Amino acid sequence: MRNKGLSRKTVLAKLGKIQRQDLKYEDGKILCSMCTTPHPAARSAHQLFLSSNLGDAGLFPGSLRLEKEVINNLSALLNGKDSVGFLVSGGTEANLLALWAARNRANVSKPEVILPESAHFSFTKICDLLRLKAVYASLDSSYRVDPSSVEKSINKNTVALVGTAGTAEIGVIDPIDKLSEIASDHRVHLHVDAAFGGLIIPFLKEIDCNTADFDFRLEGVKSVTVDPHKMGMTTIPAGGILFRDDSYLDCVKTETPYLTEEFQYTFVGTRTGASAAATYAVFESLGREGFRNTIARCMKLTKLLSSSLEALSFKLVSQPTLNIVAFRSLNSKLLSEKLRERGWLVSYVPRLDCIRIVVMPHLRRRHLAAFLKDLSEIAEPKIE
Ligand code: PLP
Repeated sequence: MRNKGLSRKTVLAKLGKIQRQDLKYEDGKILCSMCTTPHPAARSAHQLFLSSNLGDAGLFPGSLRLEKEVINNLSALLNGKDSVGFLVSGGTEANLLALWAARNRANVSKPEVILPESAHFSFTKICDLLRLKAVYASLDSSYRVDPSSVEKSINKNTVALVGTAGTAEIGVIDPIDKLSEIASDHRVHLHVDAAFGGLIIPFLKEIDCNTADFDFRLEGVKSVTVDPHKMGMTTIPAGGILFRDDSYLDCVKTETPYLTEEFQYTFVGTRTGASAAATYAVFESLGREGFRNTIARCMKLTKLLSSSLEALSFKLVSQPTLNIVAFRSLNSKLLSEKLRERGWLVSYVPRLDCIRIVVMPHLRRRHLAAFLKDLSEIAEPKIE
């Protein structure tokens, strides 16, 4: 640290210069992120609640009320009549809390969790932290987890099954209804990782896309991750964890002897109330109608992109379910590198040897048109 401080103006000028190294969603070149430009109301709300700490909520009852409002909104969206939950640092912490609760509730000596091969990598960290054995279930030809593979893997040590509603790689939705039946039959916790899809699928249903149930409507579903800092268009950090009812809270409860509240239920201690305010602001500003319209626009662009790629003879990994397009060329890795050289930030997915594009709200038709033009100019053999 420097010995003598600088003026605010000088510090901000330095920051402005450094910030120019960061990419901006608005430039339309970021095609690989599940986050996006925060809604303007979220920015203002975040600023207003900068000093609020939900880790010591007795000091910030207003912020706590906002968190409850957000959780109630998410519960209503996901049909959780009695569900309870928290805003946390992201999908990783939300998934951690779910498996922490499931493991403690089951209380077996050698706990195991059954994950789809397509599960998000956060579960690798979580299994290590919680000393859970990860047992991977295979996928079917449409990259969804195969329920029979899940059922075959269940044994007396199984503390939870996980299904994903919107995989990070290609956005497919596992057959949560089948997993729910299996979970109920074997009396085991089913956690749904809807970190990305949780704020999309309920609106897709409203805009006439035929998507199956994935939420608390299904009896076996005991917890759901749903992240406002992805398609919820709020500021980072805002992950969400919902439990079916408050009986799960005892399993993740820690006494907090010197704070204003007796217990904490999240992994992170000090926790910003700004995210709760920002998420509340987005929900209030957009309402269901605003979300529906934004998702309809993203899906329209997704369809446009996928059909244009097919017209250019690229092969889709599967028809998009959500606003993610995954496609292959003869050498997808090389193509992704060439695209990056031209400034297009796409992901290369080694597991599926494909390129992945997430059509987030910051992307416009003109961005995709420019991308497709560059793509067609890159001399790259296409798959027949
Ligand atoms: N689960 C899924 C399905 C995700 O897509 C992601 C992130 O993309 C996560 C979990 C982890 O979320 P975070 O990066 O907010 O911790």
